[in-house]
Amino acid sequence: MDIRSNEPYWLIVNSLPQSYPSLQESISSEVLIIGAGITGALMAYKLIEAGKKVVIVDRRDVCNGSTAASTSMLQYEIDVPLHKLIEQVGLTCAVSSYQNCEKAIKDIKKIAGNIKSYCGFEYKKSVYFASSKKDLSFLKNEFDARKEHGFKVKWLSKEDLKELGLNAYAAIESQSGAVMDVYKLANDLLKYCSKKGAEIYDRTDIEEIKTKKEKTIAKTKTGLTIEVDHVVHCTGYESTDTIKENIVALKSTFALASEAFETLPQAFKKHIYWNTDSPYLYFRSTEDGRIVMGGGDRDFKNATRRDALLSKKEKDLTKKFQKCFPDIPFIADYSWAGTFGETKDGLPYFGKPDTEKNEHYILGFGGNGITFSVMGMDAIIHSINKTPHPYLEYYKFNR
Ligand SMILES: Cc1cc2nc3c(=O)[nH]c(=O)nc-3n(C[C@H](O)[C@H](O)[C@H](O)COP(=O)(O)OP(=O)(O)OC[C@H]3O[C@@H](n4cnc5c(N)ncnc54)[C@H](O)[C@@H]3O)c2cc1C
Repeated sequence: MDIRSNEPYWLIVNSLPQSYPSLQESISSEVLIIGAGITGALMAYKLIEAGKKVVIVDRRDVCNGSTAASTSMLQYEIDVPLHKLIEQVGLTCAVSSYQNCEKAIKDIKKIAGNIKSYCGFEYKKSVYFASSKKDLSFLKNEFDARKEHGFKVKWLSKEDLKELGLNAYAAIESQSGAVMDVYKLANDLLKYCSKKGAEIYDRTDIEEIKTKKEKTIAKTKTGLTIEVDHVVHCTGYESTDTIKENIVALKSTFALASEAFETLPQAFKKHIYWNTDSPYLYFRSTEDGRIVMGGGDRDFKNATRRDALLSKKEKDLTKKFQKCFPDIPFIADYSWAGTFGETKDGLPYFGKPDTEKNEHYILGFGGNGITFSVMGMDAIIHSINKTPHPYLEYYKFNR
């Protein structure tokens, strides 16, 4: 599957930070991570810190899957609103999922600091706004649920939003959003892990995995083998090729980066935004003074059909931005398309789909993919050590 189109802004600003060799001989190690995006990079970091010997492989250049396409907004707010999630999965799982995402944002900042990654991490206030009057009662229910369960939220009226330059009916403002460049962080993490002894191979495609006694053997497309105790699949949306359970609906999604503003509009200095539309729109700024926005999701059919929609989506999204911020001129400079997925409850999947095998998965689908990946690395350490962890219960397969 081709999981993104060709011109994500992050690839252009960062160019190719580093490349790794492809695998040229059969090897063995303790843990094999398949997939060198942000999830594989975080998992490698956690395993190295735990003293494990790690091999990471990717069929593409590293970080060139969805990680290169991400708009890198960090929110504790899950695609399914809290009051709806409580109805779907119960109070404990729903509230702690929101709390876990909030903690994951702090964890990312800490990890970036530990490895001295200058990945543009910056806390922002997250504004969840209703662009139509009919969504007001829904938004109020969500505000009440968040407040009741201890999240720091503030109600913004139409007039408050007007001061920000946002044309909307009302909004929930939360304290704990953030932005970053996840492509940069993932590359920096891999570099760090490589220095700490991790073996990294790009352009190495795993075709088959077999279990032989206590060992798990992964075979590449070129016929080489990697023999390990555990495999961690960090294969993103392409995991649908190897998971039998139907856990995710794939969507095509679209993102734009504007031309750089000489002075960033006030509305984008301290805030990020998303709205109650379905599919929702979202906006953030970048360090070099651009506005990045995304949305326009459609059911994913294939990459050719997705990418053919790009120029139409660029026009549609620009128009929608202008409706939200009539006084900010948005001139699209880059546009790209990617694939992402929605699960039935907006929550990730962590652990083993087949308890008999030492194959673990981190599948952080949805708009919170990055925060879910952080939570996933904690969960998989417990999955490997066979110790219980709430994440392995809340986010298990066959739930
Ligand atoms: C346009 C867009 C905007 C987004 N915005 C946000 C956002 O604002 N905030 C947020 O939190 N999330 C966002 N996401 C989601 C987020 O980008 C993803 O959750 C995250 O990048 C997934 O990282 P990953 O490492 O799991 O997957 P990927 O980055 O896709 O990495 C998986 C890797 O596995 C490799 N692979 C797959 N199969 C094999 C195999 N058999 N052998 C070898 N290698 C293999 C692939 O080549 C790939 O590099 C967005 C996604 C898109 C597309």
